Amino acid sequence: MLPKYKRILLKLSGESLMGDKNFGLDSTVIAQYALDIKQVIELGVQVAIVIGGGNIYRGMNEAETGIERAQGDYMGMLATVINGMALQAGLEKVGVYTRLQSAIKMEQIAEPYIRRRAIRHLEKGRVVIFGAGTGNPYFTTDTAGSLRAIEIKADVILKGTRVDGIYTSDPEKDPTAKRFDKISFAEVINKNLKVMDMTAFTLCQENSLPIIVFDMNTPGTLLEVVQGMDVGTYVS
Ligand code: UDP
Repeated sequence: MLPKYKRILLKLSGESLMGDKNFGLDSTVIAQYALDIKQVIELGVQVAIVIGGGNIYRGMNEAETGIERAQGDYMGMLATVINGMALQAGLEKVGVYTRLQSAIKMEQIAEPYIRRRAIRHLEKGRVVIFGAGTGNPYFTTDTAGSLRAIEIKADVILKGTRVDGIYTSDPEKDPTAKRFDKISFAEVINKNLKVMDMTAFTLCQENSLPIIVFDMNTPGTLLEVVQGMDVGTYVS
């Protein structure tokens, strides 16, 4: 089956990498993600990834940590680089070529973020992992995902989550919640549904970049999404 998309930006949350743990990284999750990404690469799809850091550090809770917001945010960005390195190792283990680019310079472990170079890697079939978010405090990795997706002219941003799409209400709390197959940007805003934070979301809306929210934790779903099958929720 031919892929529907030529170039995708996959946004993975840091929290998903914890698996059943309370903190840090679960090697079985990384191994599953690596195989899922490999399937998509083998289909000839160009794959860029933005990964979160919430499993290691989130900068936003100044009141709790006593660390000022900007400082904490930089710590959160460093956490995303750790996750990026873990995912890179997992991908290399299954024979997928990768490059890690960081928005904060760390030359010994990652290339600096250079847009044109990232595109070149993608054209050569390498997975490009973007670490350190946007490189700026007061942003999220969802915003980094939207920004990088637009910069590299990805066809779509795929937001991998624990649930299989966007629901009328939280399906983990409300058994009557219904999943949307498709929804417009305006409807998401009018219904006050949570897809991404507003900065990330409006960046997609303003640049007509569709978002697909899907379940990354079920093996094979990423492949189905890329083949254009009716899984997840499509926002456009
Ligand atoms: N962060 C930031 N700027 C960015 C991206 C991330 O300051 O461009 C910080 C922020 O503190 C955030 C943390 O990095 O809480 C981890 O990212 P995020 O919470 O988005 O990760 P996820 O929820 O996807 O695990």
